[in-house]
Amino acid sequence: MRIILLGPPGSGKGTQGDLIEGKYGFPRISSGDLLRDSVQRGTPLGRKAEAFMNRGELVEDEVVVDMIRERIGEDDCRSGFILDGFPRTVPQAERLPDIDPGRDEIVLDIRVADRSIIERLSARRICSGCGSIYNLRGASAPASGTCPACGGGLIQRDDDKPEVVQRRLQVYHTQTAPLEEYYRSKNVYHEIEGTGPIHEVFVRIEAVLERSIPGSRLKEEIKAD
Ligand code: AMP
Repeated sequence: MRIILLGPPGSGKGTQGDLIEGKYGFPRISSGDLLRDSVQRGTPLGRKAEAFMNRGELVEDEVVVDMIRERIGEDDCRSGFILDGFPRTVPQAERLPDIDPGRDEIVLDIRVADRSIIERLSARRICSGCGSIYNLRGASAPASGTCPACGGGLIQRDDDKPEVVQRRLQVYHTQTAPLEEYYRSKNVYHEIEGTGPIHEVFVRIEAVLERSIPGSRLKEEIKAD
């Protein structure tokens, strides 16, 4: 199973992707995390991507497709995976069946209004140690400037600064939103209301996945016995 998470930046794809990974065991693959890691390590890929990312624009399709192809070729992806942030354009989506043929797919589009996105991203902080994501205005906001999970420092991503967020939203509406039509026409598209507490959004996701992943309902029933 290939689970694709769509949705604007800050809609909760990372958080929900981690919850899906925890329950169903598929690894979450974040194109943004892979790119940021390459930038930090100063690899040739990172050097190609950095300027686009700093401007809030998309990295070239071919570069990202090659990166994802390599990652999903790893052993832990054999029975399935969760894509967070990929595909981001119709040409990327069209390449996916070539680089990962013959796999069932399900698309979850997490919908959140632009106004809430701007609020959420201005309050988003990332742990520089373990990568955990926090919302400074959320119910589980860390009391200090450190990560409750590992004690690492909390930082704001450069591209979460207001001027870049505006551009990322613009890019989302022009280049990524057309994926809705693309996946609707393949009958794999599901819209998820992304506002509200994290666990409520996850309940909506679970309802879709339970209907779509063969055997998952059975697995849950066995667990409950
Ligand atoms: P994210 O963490 O998913 O918000 O991604 C951060 C940045 O990485 C984006 O603003 C893009 O510059 C770049 N990026 C991530 N995924 C992709 C993708 N699938 N295609 C092109 N650029 C991407």
